[in-house]
Amino acid sequence: MIEGPRSLRAIFAERLQEQVPLAPYTSARIGGPADWLLIVRSAEELEMAVSAAWQEGIPFTLLGGGSNVLISDKGIRGLVILNRAAQVRFIEEAPLRVWAESGAGLSQVAQRAASRGYGGLEWAATVPGTIGGAVYGNAGAFGGDMAHSLLLAHLVTPQGRLSWNAQEFGYGYRTSRLKRKEVQAVVLSAELLLEPSTPQQVRQRIAAFSQRRKTTQPPGASMGSMFKNPPGDYAGRLIEAAGLKGLRVGNVEVSPIHANFFVNHGEARAADVRALIELVQERVRQTFGVELELEIELLGEW
Ligand SMILES: Cc1cc2nc3c(=O)[nH]c(=O)nc-3n(C[C@H](O)[C@H](O)[C@H](O)COP(=O)(O)OP(=O)(O)OC[C@H]3O[C@@H](n4cnc5c(N)ncnc54)[C@H](O)[C@@H]3O)c2cc1C
Repeated sequence: MIEGPRSLRAIFAERLQEQVPLAPYTSARIGGPADWLLIVRSAEELEMAVSAAWQEGIPFTLLGGGSNVLISDKGIRGLVILNRAAQVRFIEEAPLRVWAESGAGLSQVAQRAASRGYGGLEWAATVPGTIGGAVYGNAGAFGGDMAHSLLLAHLVTPQGRLSWNAQEFGYGYRTSRLKRKEVQAVVLSAELLLEPSTPQQVRQRIAAFSQRRKTTQPPGASMGSMFKNPPGDYAGRLIEAAGLKGLRVGNVEVSPIHANFFVNHGEARAADVRALIELVQERVRQTFGVELELEIELLGEW
């Protein structure tokens, strides 16, 4: 373990917790402890925490909804910052938009827009995770994605603050300059474009997407899609065609409902998920000559 983060202790006192299991903070319910865990509740706190960590040279990992990561069984060394900054404000002037702190739930923001009769974020209403995670990874569904919804994101970097539009993120399919590690930055808040509509119309579109998800994706603890779709194909189709639905390592299973989802049936270990990832990659490579690339990120000490 590295030496304690002194300036963070001075700012956050006993809110800086030690040796905290991270599994409860992930959608897959998997992952060992963080050396230190700090839960921030506003964009100001998030900025203070990451700036102090950068200044002190403390390695840190930021977690939003923990819905696109696999945390190792040994856990994460250094500091984990859990982002619960969740203020949301609708800006009812042109362009119609919503400003949200980066720890706000993406689906909650979309649902709140729906109750006001604002569309544009229907695609996001069933996507787990936070605004920050979605901006980072260019989350998308049902034909929409962050690349098309983002007006402006407010970031902090080791050199200070920045505001970026969608173009500046260099978005691609489930990727960005941040995810490619081309820049070191944390999303503090974001402004997303809305369209005037009616609550009834927006809710109807969301209900249709929600229904499609229920019939095509498994319930239970998972990380969503494990692999990116290779160009011109679907990872789920390839895994299914390789006969791998239902394949298990320990308590993790390739879902019989959607082969690109791995489901934790209880107390699964990250090592089991990793072994299943490698097994699936190998079998798809052997059968189709296709290299499946992970969509999720592996975090922590492996
Ligand atoms: C059941 C299920 C269904 C899913 N369906 C979809 C889908 O339809 N479409 C889709 O795109 N994804 C889907 N996902 C994946 C996931 O919901 C998205 O990737 C989501 O955007 C991740 O957000 P998060 O807050 O959970 O990020 P986390 O998993 O907490 O973090 C992911 C990465 O983002 C970084 N990050 C988080 N917040 C910030 C920030 N504020 N600033 C900088 N970096 C940050 C983290 O450091 C980490 O590297 C699904 C997941 C599940 C479990």
